[in-house]
Amino acid sequence: MLTDSYGRVATDLRVSLTDRCNLRCAYCMPPEGLDWLPAPEVLTGDEMSRLIGIGVRALGIREVRFTGGEPLLRRDLASIIAATAALSPRPDISLTTNGIGLVRRAAALREAGLDRINVSLDTLRPEVFRKLTRRDRLSDVLSGLAAAASAGLTPVKVNAVLMRDLNDDEAPGLLRYCLEHGYELRFIEQMPLDAQHGWKRTEMITAGEIFESLSREFTLTDDSARERGAAPAETFLVDGGPARVGVIASVTRPFCGACDRVRLTADGQIRNCLFARAESDLRSLLRSGAPDEDIAARWRAAVASKLPGHGINDPTFLQPDRPMSAIGG
Ligand code: SAM
Ligand code: SF4
Repeated sequence: MLTDSYGRVATDLRVSLTDRCNLRCAYCMPPEGLDWLPAPEVLTGDEMSRLIGIGVRALGIREVRFTGGEPLLRRDLASIIAATAALSPRPDISLTTNGIGLVRRAAALREAGLDRINVSLDTLRPEVFRKLTRRDRLSDVLSGLAAAASAGLTPVKVNAVLMRDLNDDEAPGLLRYCLEHGYELRFIEQMPLDAQHGWKRTEMITAGEIFESLSREFTLTDDSARERGAAPAETFLVDGGPARVGVIASVTRPFCGACDRVRLTADGQIRNCLFARAESDLRSLLRSGAPDEDIAARWRAAVASKLPGHGINDPTFLQPDRPMSAIGG
């Protein structure tokens, strides 16, 4: 088991398959993109699958989420998913994606063993999409969402980040769209993880503001019947239910005490928190021919040293060196 000194157990593995992306979301990357990881440093599909296998067989990982960067840019995504689905006990397998190209791949990913999907969608206005992501791809994202639903990757979840004076008036419209299409919407508070280090607390749209904005059009009631467990989203029933909306208040209402996550970067580093300032190198062990037990031992030690919280609200907080796109959101 992957336990830390505060009694938490990590069972949910987030795997970043690449740090590359075909969008440039303002809260994540600068318009010119970033210096991507050199190709030889990125794990191959077989290397990824070996590490995931160690996590599942030896360390109690029960859920695997693939993310990035943009995971659909990995041509071997379906085979990595298939190898994960063949593990015993079979973990729950999900994907977080910007949805571009999903229209062509949703059915094959489902076939390979993908159980669920989260698609990021911050706006329904093409001109705002262009401004926010610096690309003109809104229609690809919307058709990707529809393809995910028809492929049975349900419940399809939508992730939205609101930015002041850009899309902060879109919460009700996004919720209406998701209700109409049967998608489950979750808003995520913007976190200090952008490569440009441009995050400002005073400019962030808080969970409180999102709740207020939605409440002008919908009746939201606390979904207290549902056990939240380690899920980061606080959920609300919309107009009496059964539809729900979620808000992930990572900054204003941190949920570190219930965190069950551990992260593997595309270059084979274990991070015990999104905001960790240290990493544990599994790639060099893997490539030096180390046996599974040695890799598992380094992984256990990495989780054991997890801090109690992310510290965003401490005056001494320092943003991690890697941006979100290179950690895996
Ligand atoms: N490219 C994929 C996507 O956009 O879904 C997967 C990677 S992306 C880093 C994962 C999630 O993190 C997305 O839902 C994105 O909106 C969110 N995200 C990125 N930067 C963020 C930030 N600074 N604060 C909060 N969420 C962020
Ligand atoms: Fe790419 Fe996702 Fe970052 Fe947007 S949030 S730039 S889609 S990695």
